[in-house]
Amino acid sequence: MADSFDLNYLLRENIRKLVPYSSARNEFKGEASILLDANENGYGSPLEQNYNRYPDPLQHQLKLKLSSIKGVPARSIFLGNGSDEAIDILYRAFCRPGIDNVILVPPTYGMYQVSADINDVATKKVKLTADFQLDLEGIAEAVDSNTRLIFLCSPNNPTGNSLHREDVETILTNFKGLVVIDEAYINYARQKTFIQELTEYGNLVVLQTLSKAWGLAGLRLGMAFASEEIIEVFNKVKPPYNVNQATQELVVKALDNVETVNAWIRETVTERDKLSEMMRSFKFVEHVYPSDANFILVRTTAPRPLYEYLVDQSIIVRDRSKVELCMGCLRITVGTPAENKALVDALTRYGRL
Ligand SMILES: *Cc1c(COP(=O)(O)O)cnc(C)c1O
Repeated sequence: MADSFDLNYLLRENIRKLVPYSSARNEFKGEASILLDANENGYGSPLEQNYNRYPDPLQHQLKLKLSSIKGVPARSIFLGNGSDEAIDILYRAFCRPGIDNVILVPPTYGMYQVSADINDVATKKVKLTADFQLDLEGIAEAVDSNTRLIFLCSPNNPTGNSLHREDVETILTNFKGLVVIDEAYINYARQKTFIQELTEYGNLVVLQTLSKAWGLAGLRLGMAFASEEIIEVFNKVKPPYNVNQATQELVVKALDNVETVNAWIRETVTERDKLSEMMRSFKFVEHVYPSDANFILVRTTAPRPLYEYLVDQSIIVRDRSKVELCMGCLRITVGTPAENKALVDALTRYGRL
């Protein structure tokens, strides 16, 4: 653990002193047949299934299952309405508006900046190097006494590569604030997760999500893994019922199907590597960046006409051509084999125009 890491020092004073909302479900947790403590509707719901009771605020059943899958104690897990909720809570709990700052390493996921802006927290941007790795010297220079968080994304969106593990470890060891590693795409990566390092680094927060490899983007379930101490802060700050009943029940079921998900991951990785090779053969493609994720970043001679041609073919990709260090690039999600074939066919036709 980083020597002078002190969670209480990092916490905003109002959060340290916060008396959290105590819900009906907090105050009575036992079994009872008549629940008249939460102003719910005892008749049920106008649906086949009942959702008339407030859900478990701390999602115990779901966390137990995730705990055994991920190999971390349930008390080191926070669940939120997407990873975006975890990102927002980090700002609200640890960054004083108008005073503190965080470090971002663009090009990277856009929500770190948006969430900072919403919370009136300054961002110090230290560009990735030309090969999309961390500029350790630049980061060390940018850190000041009010720097509370460093956001790292590995594999990184939109570049697709993983950050060098030793560089991330260097930051974890030297930075006195929290290091947030967003692993939304970790299931597709050659590198292993940082989750197993939680006992080593008290300042580590790992974000994962069920929105990508697990195919559950519509249910909104984001995860944060950190020390129990940090997770307690998350629990204090979050809205009491931030993960709804339907999501909790459906995710518990989905987690029984690890084999299906693993098969999808293997196929997506094969398709990614095939698609990357195919893309390299088109004369309008200048460069296909190596990917550890379920998308590829492709630099083309004329990104906008290509983007618009694809829209015309009813295929939507992400135009990243104006993003710093991604000039001329489109970001293309790896689809099913049929979707990828449709893309390659469309691109082949484009090459003949
Ligand atoms: C897609 C994505 C997420 C997922 O966010 P959710 O709110 O969990 O859907 C998080 N981080 C990155 C970098 C992503 O690309």
